[in-house]
Amino acid sequence: MNYTKALQNPLFKIIAKASQELNLESYVIGGFVRDYLLQRDFKKDIDIVAIGSGIELALKVSELLPHKPKVQVFKNYGTAMLRYKEIDIEFVGARKESYNQDSRNPIVENGTLEDDQNRRDFTINALAFSLNPNNFGALVDPFNGLSDLENKIIKTPLSPDITYSDDPLRMLRGIRFATQLHFDIETESFLAIKRNAERIKIISGERIVDELNKILETEKPSIGFLLLYKTGLLDLILPELTALNNVEEIDGQTHKNNFYHTLEVVDNICSNTDDVWLRWAALLHDIGKAPTKKFNKKQGWTFHGHEFLGGKMVKRIFERLHMPLNNKLKFVQKMVMLSSRPIVLAEDIVTDSAVRRLVFDAGEDVDYLMTLCEADITTKNPKKFKKYHDNFDIVRNKIIEVEERDHVRQFQPPISGEEIMELFNLKPSREIGILKEAVKEAILEGEIPNEYEAAFEFVLKRAERLGLTRIV
Ligand code: ATP
Ligand code: MG
Repeated sequence: MNYTKALQNPLFKIIAKASQELNLESYVIGGFVRDYLLQRDFKKDIDIVAIGSGIELALKVSELLPHKPKVQVFKNYGTAMLRYKEIDIEFVGARKESYNQDSRNPIVENGTLEDDQNRRDFTINALAFSLNPNNFGALVDPFNGLSDLENKIIKTPLSPDITYSDDPLRMLRGIRFATQLHFDIETESFLAIKRNAERIKIISGERIVDELNKILETEKPSIGFLLLYKTGLLDLILPELTALNNVEEIDGQTHKNNFYHTLEVVDNICSNTDDVWLRWAALLHDIGKAPTKKFNKKQGWTFHGHEFLGGKMVKRIFERLHMPLNNKLKFVQKMVMLSSRPIVLAEDIVTDSAVRRLVFDAGEDVDYLMTLCEADITTKNPKKFKKYHDNFDIVRNKIIEVEERDHVRQFQPPISGEEIMELFNLKPSREIGILKEAVKEAILEGEIPNEYEAAFEFVLKRAERLGLTRIV
């Protein structure tokens, strides 16, 4: 079988020509080949392996391209990259790698194509198309990667114990590919991941999070999180989640398994948002439940304050995994801290003031919060399921209604502190705080609309009670 059809982009002809001029062989390898054979969308990156210097090949290719794009050279890694028409092309010289215990950075020597395919993580990622004149478009497949593609199997070219121990990131990559492609991890590989799970400790938080993000970006992340759980990796990466995996019974009362519940919520939210941070919020929304769980005879199982504690735990996780400590963290914390609010509304009668408070607290993120909380409905009782969803519709409509009236989404006090100070000839003081807070409360309670006139009148009345006299 010849795959010339996969190589119709004129780029490949140019790379072939450059290779000939340098008198070296070159191949397309990895994700491009895999995704072509799987008929997946082309993701605008192409990996080229040269039997010789990848850097020289990149420079030659640039020379032959119309606008001679800039070549980024990574001398230490022996790789080079250029971008042409929004496609990133990465060049590497074929290499042989050997590893030592404490690092995933190998000792590298020049090698053959087969050496290079051997160092690849999975058979489906070791497939290559030839760019050489004698067999342009031929598939080079020394490990039966093609049949693993057809059988949907993730399998390492070499012994899995060696492959995973050499570079433990591959364990996460394997689980990530299984989730993205809906493939199975071959049993030997799965067992090797289990045996080598502890090695994940040498991998940096950033790398781990890259893979977790890719799992979260799929349409069914639970596939990946269950694999992480079963291999023991999740316990090492996010023990806060595995701590949720239990059901206790006292006096015949049980609580739900919050680990499996969480995975269901994450899968649910994926059909309603592409935002990876909201997906993180779904993943972490119940982590405060393990440390706050209590039983008492009157109320049964309770998780008082789990949202607040959960918010604090989110910060520790972000720090530990070197995730961004910026507005993304703030967003996830906010979602976790507010995650029970709409559902409490939906279980009960929806009052205007409760909705107004919700909008006030969630601000611009209130729609995200609603999306999270609707995904949180995992009850198997069809009556309750319908009731909650119906109530969510009411809440959503009320949000629009109270917004039209009171604009509390980006709350600005209708009367300023300065004006109150002038009215009563006050210096900055406790009274100002009390009056401003009272105005806000009155608006949230619906006693007055969020308007200047009403707030002005309200302040006068309330000030009288404080014994203040108006001087202007
Ligand atoms: P995607 O781009 O969809 O994540 P990909 O297969 O292109 O998939 P990249 O991370 O872009 O993955 O890597 C390109 C190729 O490099 C892979 O197909 C694989 O052959 C090889 N590779 C990447 N990372 C590793 C690794 N940690 N160990 C061994 N080989 C790897
Ligand atoms: Mg790639």
